[in-house]
Amino acid sequence: MNIVKQAKNLGFIASGLSPSEKPPFFDAFCKWIDAENFGQMAWLQKHRSLREDPGKLLRECRAIISLAYPYSSAKPCTPDGYTMARYSAPKNNDYHIRLRKKAERLATEIKASYPGAKTRVCVDSAPILERSFAHRSGMGFLGKNNMFIVPGHGSYLFLAEILTTAELPPFLDRTTTEDLCRDCTRCVDACPTGALESPRHLNASKCLSYLTIEYGGDLDQETGKRMGRCFLGCDMCQEVCPFNGLKKTDEISLPGITEFLKMEEREFKTLFGQTALARPGLGRIQRNIKAILH
Ligand code: SF4
Ligand code: SF4
Repeated sequence: MNIVKQAKNLGFIASGLSPSEKPPFFDAFCKWIDAENFGQMAWLQKHRSLREDPGKLLRECRAIISLAYPYSSAKPCTPDGYTMARYSAPKNNDYHIRLRKKAERLATEIKASYPGAKTRVCVDSAPILERSFAHRSGMGFLGKNNMFIVPGHGSYLFLAEILTTAELPPFLDRTTTEDLCRDCTRCVDACPTGALESPRHLNASKCLSYLTIEYGGDLDQETGKRMGRCFLGCDMCQEVCPFNGLKKTDEISLPGITEFLKMEEREFKTLFGQTALARPGLGRIQRNIKAILH
């Protein structure tokens, strides 16, 4: 079977294969965890041994297929000009649901071509260092903003993995593990909170993506100011990246912020219950809007 072609047919922009070994950034990840840079995301401390050895996620795992799926570069926005990060794609079902369906289809094709092979699909659903394997596969590189970049596409993408026991021939959709950031530091310079403390070193507890999506406490005035007009997530370190191109478009796909502030749970569930907005939920979205307005 031609995995690259079949992945492309399913809408993936890049795919690559890594051996089932300790991922290249595992030691750096452990250092990051030990320095407690993860804010309230304490779950990241768990399952260190599974992150080190993907063979513990799927017995007799031979290989990890990394898959990159694009999201729109148009920024979701309200009629009154407030925005959310692009990944949120409020008109679509949550990307976990969409990607899993596509990756499962590819996994089914692999099992049909390699009788007896087992597969496990991961879409943020298992402790696996996905950017590390994507990098190892050669389909792109890790930018100084900590985002995975596929040359020719950029970093507006989701990653998914298929772990498999199948003995696949080596394949590669793209050919870059080189650090193409070179002497650029635009993302580090543009970060409004200093969360990128140095290239590829993110202090999550300062990052607006973390603060607006995962963090459960109150947001102070200074944070509200730094958010500008974006009330969920933050794309600033991606917007300045030359790999994402210069064209910046907005797409009105959200109700106004006053409507969000008046919204009740039932309406929110009807409008956004199946989307990526369900994770932060209405309460955090309203908290974030209030922080911007103060
Ligand atoms: S998402 Fe925003 S706050 Fe977080 S590192 Fe990037 S620019 Fe900084
Ligand atoms: S903005 Fe520059 S340094 Fe940052 S990820 Fe993009 S190319 Fe690399």
